[in-house]
Amino acid sequence: MPIKYCNQCGTPTVIKIPHGDNLPRSVCESCGFIQYENPKVIVGCIAEWEDKILLCKRAIEPRLGYWTLPAGFLENNETSQEGALRETLEEANAKATIIDAFSLIDIPHINQIYLLYRAQLANASFSTTFESSEVGLFDETTLPWDEIAFAAIKKSLERYFDDKRKGIFSLHVETINASTQNK
Ligand SMILES: [Zn+2]
Repeated sequence: MPIKYCNQCGTPTVIKIPHGDNLPRSVCESCGFIQYENPKVIVGCIAEWEDKILLCKRAIEPRLGYWTLPAGFLENNETSQEGALRETLEEANAKATIIDAFSLIDIPHINQIYLLYRAQLANASFSTTFESSEVGLFDETTLPWDEIAFAAIKKSLERYFDDKRKGIFSLHVETINASTQNK
């Protein structure tokens, strides 16, 4: 959906390539403002407690009823680690501390970048929230693999349990394309 009105003055915008640029943008010919659209960053946690990790069942669209890691859009004026911990608190009422970055996943066809951290839960205290109808701890065998909400989350979970079996965690940098996202 292209942007139709200027964010600065409300005048209807035109789509054109600004001077010195090479991509079409939403340009205001009244005040000159150019509305750049860039990918969104989604941050979240693989939050560990003993041999398990925390998952949330989505109580909201998109993908209502499917399971996911606590994750959401990074806000302005916060670091990616702060955002990941905030989402864990908002979606699962769970306090955690960051261990390390775990996965960085580009999804260019939907303009998203996921940055997920491994984290340590402060205790086994968590609960449902406005965004999550169920919250629980799962290991590889109990995890609802066929009911994971998003491709980037599923890929990260697969990499996580691969690493866990090997006994060493590393950073996984990957790309999900339109043609591979359902595989
Ligand atoms: Zn304007």
